[in-house]
Formats: sequence, C-alpha cells, structure tokens
Amino acid sequence: MKCSNCQIELKPIDCKGITIDECDKCKGKWFDRDELRKAKDRTDEDLKWLDFDPFGEDAEKLSMVSEGKLCPKCSNKMASLKYMDSEVVIDKCPGCKGVWLDPGEFMKIIESSIGIDEETIREILDLLKEANKIFILEIVREDKDRNIKRIEGYIDSYFKFY
Ligand SMILES: [Zn+2]
Ligand SMILES: [Zn+2]
Repeated sequence: MKCSNCQIELKPIDCKGITIDECDKCKGKWFDRDELRKAKDRTDEDLKWLDFDPFGEDAEKLSMVSEGKLCPKCSNKMASLKYMDSEVVIDKCPGCKGVWLDPGEFMKIIESSIGIDEETIREILDLLKEANKIFILEIVREDKDRNIKRIEGYIDSYFKFY
C-alpha cells in the first residue's frame, strides 16, 4: 500500500497494540476495516475516538467536499468527513471501509478527546481550518480552469459547424 499523499510504501507500526500502516515521510495513518474494529473493542482512552463510526448514519451528516484522495488499499476515491463537531477531517473509503488520517489529525483527535487546554485545541483547529480552506480553493480553481476549457471547446465547435 502506498501513501495517499507521498506515494511511498506505508509501513506497519504499532498503535496501542494494534498494527496499523503509517507513512514514514508524512506520518499519515491508514486503518483497515479490521484494525478499526479491533481498536474499537479496546478500552484504551487514546482510542476512544473510534467510538464514532465513520460509516454510520451520523457520519453522513458530516460529509463534506472530498479531498479527492485515493484509498491506499483499493484505489477507490475516498470520502471526506468532519470528525464529530471538530474541524478535523478524516477520509474514509466506501469500498474497503478503511479510514485514512492525514498527518497530525490522529494526534489532534486524541488531544481533543483527552482534553488538553481549549486554547491549544482552538489554535490547532484554526490551523486545520486554514489548511482546508486553501485546499478547497485549489479544487475550485482547478474546476474553473476545466470549465473555461470546456466553454472554449463549445465556441470552437460552434464556429466550425455553423
Ligand atoms: Zn505520506
Ligand atoms: Zn479502499
């Protein structure tokens, strides 16, 4: 499996007694369906965040514009959603039901669930919000270019045929 960000091979690592896959370079993390289930069964405080089911009905309401990442396991386009009421974004694969966490997001979820001071959390979330905004703007810009090309194509064919 290759990292959705860096395209380098993911390495198995131990995460609270569960083997998950991590990118050496960006520290993004991949949880298989099985790994998610195993993590959910544990009572470890740090894994409490997994009580939230990214594939459940509640998650549907939190879905947002996909970041367009491809699943490292089955190459399906992943869906993005906001983790509970935070600004933390996770990517889930509708195909193999695994979950991808971008660098830092795993720690942020843990930090918010163990309750570090609010100000720090707010700062972190603001940073994430900013990062997402930039990302979404880029997607919009890409689409605009594509649309302009399409319009140019129409104009071209209009003058060719009439
Ligand atoms: Zn990576
Ligand atoms: Zn998948």
